[in-house]
Amino acid sequence: MPATISETQKQFLETLQKMRPEQIGTGYMHKLCEFLMESSEELDPAWQSIWKKINRSSLLRYVPPHFIHEIEKRISSIEVIDKEIYKIKIKDTTKVTFLLGAGASAPSGIPTVDKLLSELWNRARKIGREDLDKLAKWCADRNITNIEDLLTAAYISNFSSKNSSVISLLDYFLFSGSGTSLQEEEYESRRLRRQRTQIDVSSISFLQETLQTLFALLTNTMISAKPNQTHQSIVDFLKLHNDTSIITTNYDGCMDEAILNRKLKLRSALTSDTHLDVTDKVDLIKMHGSINWAYCDSCHDAREFDLLELKNLYNKDILSYPVMGICKNCGGLRRPLLVPPLSFKFLMFPTLIDIWNTARQRIENADYLIIIGYSFSEADTYITKILSRSMAMKPSQKMIIVNNDPKLAPTLIERFSAHIDEFDKTRILRAVKSSELALPDIINSLLGKTAPAKKAKAKTTARRNTKKRKKTSS
Ligand SMILES: [Zn+2]
Repeated sequence: MPATISETQKQFLETLQKMRPEQIGTGYMHKLCEFLMESSEELDPAWQSIWKKINRSSLLRYVPPHFIHEIEKRISSIEVIDKEIYKIKIKDTTKVTFLLGAGASAPSGIPTVDKLLSELWNRARKIGREDLDKLAKWCADRNITNIEDLLTAAYISNFSSKNSSVISLLDYFLFSGSGTSLQEEEYESRRLRRQRTQIDVSSISFLQETLQTLFALLTNTMISAKPNQTHQSIVDFLKLHNDTSIITTNYDGCMDEAILNRKLKLRSALTSDTHLDVTDKVDLIKMHGSINWAYCDSCHDAREFDLLELKNLYNKDILSYPVMGICKNCGGLRRPLLVPPLSFKFLMFPTLIDIWNTARQRIENADYLIIIGYSFSEADTYITKILSRSMAMKPSQKMIIVNNDPKLAPTLIERFSAHIDEFDKTRILRAVKSSELALPDIINSLLGKTAPAKKAKAKTTARRNTKKRKKTSS
């Protein structure tokens, strides 16, 4: 993608983005085609989606077919990977942090969060759970389609049911905070008392069962998922480059498994082995928890179970996946430590504070942030804030965005430009392509192993470490 585009090209893109196809007149179409045929400047990848908006048959009224063919050829060959990416060469001292989002795990067969909820409802129908059916209808009526919203609500409810004053406070803040008379308040407090009793008696078990079903569904889809090329490429990279951190917002075990399969050790996230012999251990920071982590509601004890063993037993059907367990410390309820991306997570999971602090440090220290399949969603405000703060604090830091969505990088550039004085747009580099396809070339190039098109001489570091590399085992 061109680092900068001409004012003319920018205006075409902006106008066409706003226009409906039928609004594009003959004169404008002529000017547009002339530009696309004759300008020698590089075209922005946005043309690929914008061109689809233009009606081909109406276009034929103004432009000869062979011209259209030429234009389409030019648009389909627009380079969607910034060439600058291939000019980066990593030194031994360069700090690299990967950040993985749902897009990195999608090719491993993990459904996206918006698809999980409909699956949950299908399952509820199969097992004939009337209460879940009712909840499904309620969600459908209100257009609630994201399982993480449901999980969040279940978490808040679970927390509130144990801290009953929280319910009335929530009610106060959200609904009746202002302008109520004394009488109304009294009525309100009677209503709440009544509600609370109902909550305690009838809803807790439903809530617990819903949570359990949600967890079962989430973990079921994830436990058997296998690492894909994205995960393998990252392991290729960290085998050759020491100063690498990996942060993921995914609960699944794909990244972990790819690392462990290549005989590398993982640094334990939940127990404090941080001061012992950590140099040869990989730093994998799972910000939203993991399918092999469990958490006790009562004593807040967090445990990590052996992922490969867990997967193995599950796949052989020797052990069903333990969605609920009993805490060895206190006898309380133990659940998987999977956390929906909302900022109140601190409230529920003190354990995560350390993990989040480490993630922040790794992001702030990085020379390069390689962000894969991560959508910078609204719910993840904390991560988004860390990232923009880090980019603001460290002017030499660069981001490589590997994402299918062509709009993501421009949106980020816009956002950073608004928050950071004289933001240098070339600090954001993008590869608009699936990470499975784009990452191997990028990784090789960063390590100085090969250029994407032609073979290049291997760098000393790469050569020195080649013997350490092993063939992918899965
Ligand atoms: Zn406990």
